[in-house]
Amino acid sequence: MISKIIDYHSIGHLRYLVERARNVVVTCHLSPDGDAIGSSLGLCKLLRNMGKRADVVLPDQVPRQLTFITLEDVQPVTYSVNRIKSQSLLERASLVICLDFNSLKRIDKLGPVVAGAHADKVMIDHHEDPDLEGLKVAISHPEASSTCELVYRVAMQAGWLRYVDRFVARCLYLGMMTDTGNFAYDNADDPEVFEIVAALMRHGIDRHELHKRAIDNYHVSAIRLQGYALHERMRVDMERGAALITLDKEELERFGYQRGDTEALVNRPLSDPSIRWSTFMREDAEHIKVSMRAEGDFRVDEMCARYFHGGGHIHAAGGEFCGTMAEAVAVYEEILAGVAPLATVEENENQSITNEDNKNNED
Ligand code: 5GP
Ligand code: MN
Repeated sequence: MISKIIDYHSIGHLRYLVERARNVVVTCHLSPDGDAIGSSLGLCKLLRNMGKRADVVLPDQVPRQLTFITLEDVQPVTYSVNRIKSQSLLERASLVICLDFNSLKRIDKLGPVVAGAHADKVMIDHHEDPDLEGLKVAISHPEASSTCELVYRVAMQAGWLRYVDRFVARCLYLGMMTDTGNFAYDNADDPEVFEIVAALMRHGIDRHELHKRAIDNYHVSAIRLQGYALHERMRVDMERGAALITLDKEELERFGYQRGDTEALVNRPLSDPSIRWSTFMREDAEHIKVSMRAEGDFRVDEMCARYFHGGGHIHAAGGEFCGTMAEAVAVYEEILAGVAPLATVEENENQSITNEDNKNNED
């Protein structure tokens, strides 16, 4: 059974806001990933199926692997490409639903437009430490695998499951699949994730094809770029179980880099059981984009917030660095120097086990 984890008050209030809304705008974070796009397009189509006028406004363009879904039932408006249309949709909206982000910083230049909109605002999200003001409803569940999972739960609790069609199911599956690394990460440990997946699959979704298109889809040039990055640009500190991969502008250009080409690269070093912290730095047009992943007790959300104006989840976070790659690496090295070597961590763990044993024996 799928439990009702969202509080009744929030669901009741959201239902009320949706019922009386004339125009709804759904929006999500910058550099939208499968969860951001899936939850936005899926919720928008669900609202349209309810008879609502609803649109999706994205802050910027989607990675190549995910464009296919934006050409189907719901075609989003992209703020960085079509400012006037995005602004006018937000100005006349009576309800704005913010998905998969919890701070206006995460939508960049769209932030002031959303903040200035007269509409009622609602957030549905699964990141730590929400920081969005002026919300009528805030549904924040960091324990959820994805925002798509939360959208399904909202639909279930609000009595909207009859509006879930095949497209909505595909969108929600897409986000659950991408945010859980194809259901491999520990955020998919909840059996209810698979109960929701089963419910979505009953809509006849093209599960295998979605995986081939959204995850296992790289041009040869991108595969070569990843090979180069892992062979030439990955440095490893085995003592601390840390890996850093960097790619600068010249290297990206050399391999004909397109948005999405380095999508899962940061996860690769964690395949080695001795690595517990992986960092990827990529030189983008305006800053160095930082991505971090971790395993076990090592957490990266606070690190990204503290050093790279970012945040995210305990084991998957990101941020930005304004400066050169060398400066960004210097910051990384400073953080690395403060990380305890693995032997010390193990010694401490053994020590605490011994202390615990002694305590038990004393008891
Ligand atoms: P990725 O490394 O795939 O870009 O992002 C991993 C996770 O960290 C995602 O949940 C994403 O929302 C979060 N994240 C990535 N970049 C940023 C950032 O610049 N700021 C914040 N607050 N979160 C980020
Ligand atoms: Mn997400």
